[in-house]
Amino acid sequence: MSENSSAATTKISTYLMMIVLIVLALSVVALMLSVNAFIVGNEMVAGYLLLIGFIAMALSVYVLLQSRKRIASMKIEAPKVMTTVECKKCGFKSVREFQRGDFVFKDLDTCQKCNDKMIITAIYKEVKEKEKTYGV
Ligand SMILES: [Zn+2]
Repeated sequence: MSENSSAATTKISTYLMMIVLIVLALSVVALMLSVNAFIVGNEMVAGYLLLIGFIAMALSVYVLLQSRKRIASMKIEAPKVMTTVECKKCGFKSVREFQRGDFVFKDLDTCQKCNDKMIITAIYKEVKEKEKTYGV
């Protein structure tokens, strides 16, 4: 499941990257054309092209920065799956990260305190309270 979502994220980010690069290339072309128009003597066209070039460049840089931020926040929010292990005899309890093959009521190693068998009593996703993100 996590593999699929990360693959989708990479696909989106490469798609976005392509658009950003195209816009960036167009802005460079617009700036070059504006220089050309200025040399020819068409100052009004040069001014417009200069404006378009700068706006396109600013926009692509902005999108690039925003997407970086979003991808970084996605990585942080992946929740951990935890397993609670309990000894039925003495009540000794411990929590560890989920391991492959874990299931509720599965017998595990002996208890550290009384040497009786310990079992898994709960498997759950660790839910962290969402930290407030600054800015947009
Ligand atoms: Zn015990």
